[in-house]
Amino acid sequence: MKEKKMRTLAEPFRIKMVESVRITTEEYRSEALKRSGYNPFLLHSSDVFIDLLTDSGTGAMSDRQWAGMMIGDESYAGARSWLHLEEVVKELTGMPHILPTHQGRAAERILYGILGGQGKVFFSNTHFDTTRANIEFTGATAIDVMPDHSTDPEIDLPFKGNIDIHKLKELIIQYGAENIAAVIMTVTNNSSGGQPVSMMNVKEVRELCDDHNLMLVIDGCRIAENSYFIKHREPGYEDKSYEEIAKEMLRLADAFVMSAKKDGLVNMGGLLTLKDNTLSQKCTNLLIISEGFATYGGLSGRDMEAIAIGLKEVFDPDYLHYRIRSTAYLGEHLKLMGIPVVWPIGGHAVYIDAKKLYHNIPVKEYPGQALVCDLYTQGGIRCVEVGSVMFGKYDEYGKLIPAKNELVRLAIPRRVYTQSHIDYVIEVFDDILELKDQKRGYRITYEPPFLRHFTAQFARMD
Ligand SMILES: *Cc1c(COP(=O)(O)O)cnc(C)c1O
Repeated sequence: MKEKKMRTLAEPFRIKMVESVRITTEEYRSEALKRSGYNPFLLHSSDVFIDLLTDSGTGAMSDRQWAGMMIGDESYAGARSWLHLEEVVKELTGMPHILPTHQGRAAERILYGILGGQGKVFFSNTHFDTTRANIEFTGATAIDVMPDHSTDPEIDLPFKGNIDIHKLKELIIQYGAENIAAVIMTVTNNSSGGQPVSMMNVKEVRELCDDHNLMLVIDGCRIAENSYFIKHREPGYEDKSYEEIAKEMLRLADAFVMSAKKDGLVNMGGLLTLKDNTLSQKCTNLLIISEGFATYGGLSGRDMEAIAIGLKEVFDPDYLHYRIRSTAYLGEHLKLMGIPVVWPIGGHAVYIDAKKLYHNIPVKEYPGQALVCDLYTQGGIRCVEVGSVMFGKYDEYGKLIPAKNELVRLAIPRRVYTQSHIDYVIEVFDDILELKDQKRGYRITYEPPFLRHFTAQFARMD
């Protein structure tokens, strides 16, 4: 049979309401960037044409979700919208206790506040930064357990987000099961390129947890995206639906935390779900003190209605195919042009190896920040450095200890940009390639003591 020609990956939705974005000139953007201290976090969004800063809470809701907002029940206790959300999440997770929170980190603060504390240790494939911060804030330790090869941007593996089972085994013995608060599986692995985790890997972690009587938490704000990769890459899952795959994975866990700002397809919201009665009571008490009553936890009724609908829509095969393939479309085109990208392409973002692309800029002059600034000046595109600006430290002489990689992340908001926006982004990279040997690095002129990438200011090296 003759193969059909590949067709354009047309969006499986049409546009019913539009939001204007402003097209600015290069001179205007140069000035705006200068005013922001060469830190795109400090730009006004109205000065950005295509905003790829994050995929968190930046997605577009569907007409059904907006219709759901209108019938949201704002009762303080036992609202209809709460019961709807609870039913959807119970079915998805198979867990009896569902707690709503205002976003993912609130669920983390509650759960890890109870499980953590001085002397406790958590293991994860990779702790997301709010996860690590909430754990360390309790005095506990967070250890990432990745295989050595996973930081290699080029090694092509189907499940590059997996935890290293052998290292995990050794660490459990080294630290002693009694000191281990939980093992957290982040799916997809956000801080490690949005790379997927295999079902096999989670099953192996489950077995290890059973052997040592440990708790397994799934940090699954991108569980639907992860299910897409499992169906298409892991033997035995070809004929399962995305929802079935997610359900199977969640049934391996004792707890589930979710930022609904990702695969919940909403702009704000979070979830904490649990199997254990006693732990759930403790969490509920903390929820009521800090978030709100147990049937709304910091969310409006309309928000809960929108999450309940979003959690169903996200498993639509046409949506998920478009979502994962459109991210790959950007990554594959950049690769073809000779832009060094982290390979394979993950679910929610494309990562560029700025150290390689801007090889003439030394690491101490932040090649990633230079690329972020150039993408804004050249094309009005906003994205974020994930390198030594974000993770660099100083030694005792004030010399930079660089991060492992100098990456730039282009995160793709859900259902927001069309293929022509993405084609535009690809074209801007043509200009970057043309100019790359004239590029200059940056130095930091101001930095706060923590999370410096948000508010640091820079100057261009001359
Ligand atoms: C976004 C995210 C969180 C935190 O969720 P917020 O809603 O931003 O508080 C936790 N874990 C992972 C893996 C995330 O991507």
